[in-house]
Amino acid sequence: MKAIRVAEFGGPGVLQMVEMPEPVPGPGEVRVRLRAIGVNPVETYIRAGVYAHKPALPYTPGGDGAGVVDAVGSGVTGIAVGDRVYTSGSLTGTYAEYAVCAAARVHALPDAVTFAQGAAIGVPYGTAYRAVVQRGGLLAGECVLVHGASGGVGTAAVQIARALGAFVIGTAGTTEGCALVTAQGAHAVVNHREGGYLERIRGLAEARGGVQLVVEMLANVNLGHDLGLLGPRGRVVVVGSRGPVEINPRALMGCDGDIRAMTLFNVAPEDYMRIHAALFAGLESGALRPVVGRELALADAAEAHRAVIEDRAYGKIVLLP
Ligand code: NAP
Repeated sequence: MKAIRVAEFGGPGVLQMVEMPEPVPGPGEVRVRLRAIGVNPVETYIRAGVYAHKPALPYTPGGDGAGVVDAVGSGVTGIAVGDRVYTSGSLTGTYAEYAVCAAARVHALPDAVTFAQGAAIGVPYGTAYRAVVQRGGLLAGECVLVHGASGGVGTAAVQIARALGAFVIGTAGTTEGCALVTAQGAHAVVNHREGGYLERIRGLAEARGGVQLVVEMLANVNLGHDLGLLGPRGRVVVVGSRGPVEINPRALMGCDGDIRAMTLFNVAPEDYMRIHAALFAGLESGALRPVVGRELALADAAEAHRAVIEDRAYGKIVLLP
């Protein structure tokens, strides 16, 4: 099969297409013939060798993908050859034509959801649900700011928060991104590259007693400002951060506020099960509609890694094997 391999940590150029044997599923494992592969920022940090979790070299990147089950190992129940599925983690890496995954990391894909959309679910929707519901505790009627709403996690967070009955404010950095966020159901959208945008958010949230939950994609830039937007008992959930930041704790004291944070690596099995049960229900009902902004060939994985970090976001980047 064709697969992307990383033999040394470095820039996008270390992503090399190779021919290698198809992986064989062991007990409790499932092999998926992938039709689309999700590209997440974390895969660029791992590839660069700067992430806390470093795989042994050489390795095939990726955990998100969608396709059809083509082999199951012994002891697997509830998943059969021929099932349409999405993956949320892989033992062999999803930047390939075939990937072996633990059975618990393979989930049914509703018929109305395309494979490209299926590749956009695992990390982005898992993170968004974890941040909005399990860490953020969002309640119907609350005001939520999705700070960075035009990308993979942000579009998912807007859809989830809207489906839960919140008043949703989203931000994006381009006109196209703002239109995309509105199309996902945000009640209001502001451009985080425009001067005075924080005052606009404050004005939008004022009638609701301030922002009750911020889902923050770039905390090293925004965390200090987020605290000034919070209403009583407001929460910030840090999803993304690319460096240190200075905050004034007085802003938190004034509202009995919370700064919370998350990483998907910490999700306990029972929470994990709940995340994917909720996502299936939302995908099946049509409340959740993954946005695929760009499709590239698997051979263009290096370009996908450049784009996911450097370009302005527009939904999800997926690779087609
Ligand atoms: P993405 O698709 O590249 O989206 C990035 C988002 O950040 C876009 O909406 C982008 O908006 C926005 N952004 C850029 N500059 C911003 C600013 N100054 N203020 C607010 N937002 C800004 O990435 P993603 O997959 O959604 O992931 C978002 C972040 O969360 C990444 O840092 C990723 O590493 C992290 N993450 C963490 C976890 C976890 O477990 N904690 C899981 C998944 C992702 P424009 O491009 O329109 O400006």
